[in-house]
Amino acid sequence: MRLDVVTIFPEYLEPLNVSLVGKARARGRLDVRVHDLREWTHDKHNTVDDTPYGGGPGMVMKPEPWGEALDAVIGSGAEGVRPTIVVPTPSGKPFTQEIAVELAEKPWLVFTPARYEGIDRRVIDEYGDHYDVRELSIGDYVLAGGEAPVLVMVEAVARLLPGVLGNAESHRDDSFAPGAMADLLEGPVYTKPPEWRGRGIPDVLLSGHHGKIARWRRDEAFRRTTANRPDLLERTDPAAFDKKDREM
Ligand code: SAM
Repeated sequence: MRLDVVTIFPEYLEPLNVSLVGKARARGRLDVRVHDLREWTHDKHNTVDDTPYGGGPGMVMKPEPWGEALDAVIGSGAEGVRPTIVVPTPSGKPFTQEIAVELAEKPWLVFTPARYEGIDRRVIDEYGDHYDVRELSIGDYVLAGGEAPVLVMVEAVARLLPGVLGNAESHRDDSFAPGAMADLLEGPVYTKPPEWRGRGIPDVLLSGHHGKIARWRRDEAFRRTTANRPDLLERTDPAAFDKKDREM
């Protein structure tokens, strides 16, 4: 998969060199290219922002550098491969595990993290007429810029790519994983030693009984979801619950 990020803070994307994403790059699973938006400015001060039409506080990112940058990046693609353009914005649709799964199937993602009050709307409309453009929010709060949201989204997508996680099975039981966990949070997990500061681990996990362990995990997922995210259970199709679930 190819990933491009256009930003005025390329150094903010340094974490893409470490851990899981860094290893995926080193192994050739990910081709990550970070670009400085200011390279597509033509004035002495490399200006990327201007005052908003209609007045008001804050500045808006100018359309010309973004247009030139996106044309150059998109123009550098392999023939026949079209990018999905991801625009991080608090006013976008919520970025969810389901969307991460969908994006992980794309050959090429181009991210446009903004600063100030965001990018002149015409840029999103212009590229939206020709490409798959996704405006996505990582949560109901406002950050100073879109670089941290890009790191969040890239990591969520990258760990789903084949050959990136050590154990391909490990994301199938995650909270929100499509399938049995779609609307559930993962329950507690334990490792050795069997006793720590007087605290043991649930007997069932030592039983070796796979059916009972699976039941316990599902019950714990229900318990945690009921406590922390009851909204998830409300939206679940009742047919997805088995008899034991309903007793929880
Ligand atoms: N005025 C904008 C609004 O109220 O929707 C907020 C602009 S914010 C200060 C600057 C940039 O940070 C946004 O354009 C976006 O790229 C990024 N950003 C901030 N919060 C975000 C969030 N929750 N999800 C995704 N991107 C976010």
